[in-house]
Amino acid sequence: MATEQRVRDLLDRIPTGIFVNGAFRDSSSGATFPVHDPATEEVLVEVADATPEDGAAALDAAVAAGPAWAATPARERAEILRAAYEGLHARADDFALLMTLEMGKALPESANELKYGAEFFRWFSEEAVRIAGRYTPAPAGTGRILVSKAPVGPCLAITPWNFPLAMGTRKIGPALAAGATMVVKPAGLTPLTMLLLAEVLKEAGVPDGVISVLPTSKSGALTGPLLADPRLRKLTFTGSTEVGAALVAQSAPGILRTSMELGGNAPFVVFDDADVDHAVAQALLAKLRNGGEACTAANRFHVHESVLEEFTTKLVDGMAKYVLGRGIDDGVTIGPLVSADQQATVSELVQDAVAKGASLRLGGVAPEGPGHFFPPTVLADVPADARILTEEVFGPVAPIVSFADEDAGVAAANATEYGLAAYIFTKDLDRALRVADRIEAGMVGVNRGVISDPAGPFGGVKASGFGREGGSEGIEEYLETRYIALQ
Ligand code: NAD
Repeated sequence: MATEQRVRDLLDRIPTGIFVNGAFRDSSSGATFPVHDPATEEVLVEVADATPEDGAAALDAAVAAGPAWAATPARERAEILRAAYEGLHARADDFALLMTLEMGKALPESANELKYGAEFFRWFSEEAVRIAGRYTPAPAGTGRILVSKAPVGPCLAITPWNFPLAMGTRKIGPALAAGATMVVKPAGLTPLTMLLLAEVLKEAGVPDGVISVLPTSKSGALTGPLLADPRLRKLTFTGSTEVGAALVAQSAPGILRTSMELGGNAPFVVFDDADVDHAVAQALLAKLRNGGEACTAANRFHVHESVLEEFTTKLVDGMAKYVLGRGIDDGVTIGPLVSADQQATVSELVQDAVAKGASLRLGGVAPEGPGHFFPPTVLADVPADARILTEEVFGPVAPIVSFADEDAGVAAANATEYGLAAYIFTKDLDRALRVADRIEAGMVGVNRGVISDPAGPFGGVKASGFGREGGSEGIEEYLETRYIALQ
């Protein structure tokens, strides 16, 4: 089928209602809001605009479904998750196309996200049956200590637009595995993927009410009453630090459990003994994966002065090879940014750096519209006061600065309020471990530019948040620990 026809066919058959209690329906107000294609700025479809009443209905359903879901044998929950993993792969082409349409990323990136996102369901289907407790004698010999785990209860998940599928599956997978229920509020810019995921989950056998999906144009109005409802037991959020901080404050009065996956400002540190060609190849991934719109994206490159020029020249050559265009077109390797706001922010950060003395080695100027495009851009000699070194760029821009020795490299890497990911390149294992220990980040990649793995604990420190997604740690976020003292 020709691409345009495939697009029309897909948009005709995807769900566009809110998903509550196992069914798609209009919002209680009947209102809708448009979802745009960031490459053309055209409206793709109108989506039901969930109201606070819809939020209450979804929480009612999550509360009602909770006890039966918690009591469902772990093996059965695991098999449902496994079926959802298969269901995602069975519809991989639809998901990839849909993600590219609503978010902009190049089609191969969307295909990768499908695999990555689905993997959380497979991983947590395997974890569901390994939720363990313990039984130990009390040291004083006076009794026995019995520890068990119980699902946390109804959860609210709020997800960002940059990975429309995976940011949902990394929360839904462990919640369902643990026996918890969940109301999901996807990003307003990219709600379609999560609605299609709801369809897959229903087909996989997830009971009514266990998952609801509520797109809305008024996030705060929907989530505020939910956070204030004492029946809600947990908030899991992925998004900006600013919104995360406001949500933590809103969660405080109810002493709500929260997990926060927030912004990043990842340093990419290249030491004098690094394999420069390998570092450049990995830098391309760390910088341009997802068009630079990743919380783990390398935000700034700290390169030892002895390899600075070689690294810079090779990075420019590598980034120049990327093909900017509409993500669904053949051969395109980098799509548009998600919105006009995002494009303006990236432009501003580049202009600020250049105005303060950085030299533009590649790109730097947004092309004429339509579409929120921004080209791969390299900035060298970036001065310390350039905003791009301290703010999250969320675009295909690589600012490069040099450092003189290991201590200076580590200090530069840590000079940020954030602490999500960091990348270090060296052939010296002692140095790698020494530096990794000193870097203030939840995740450190050693000689590799992509660290996300459903089997590893993903998460940050400092202003990048708290809590972990993936790994054996990920399910703990959805479990309460219970202790029974036995005589
Ligand atoms: P955002 O904070 O603007 O929005 C995230 C979500 O919160 C969206 O669903 C949005 O609709 C919702 N939201 C916004 N204001 C709200 C409010 N007042 N009340 C309730 N909900 C509200 O972030 P974004 O622009 O969608 O995503 C980009 C950010 O996400 C970046 O900072 C990025 O680093 C971060 N991110 C972090 C991770 C991680 O795992 N640490 C992963 C992906 C993205």
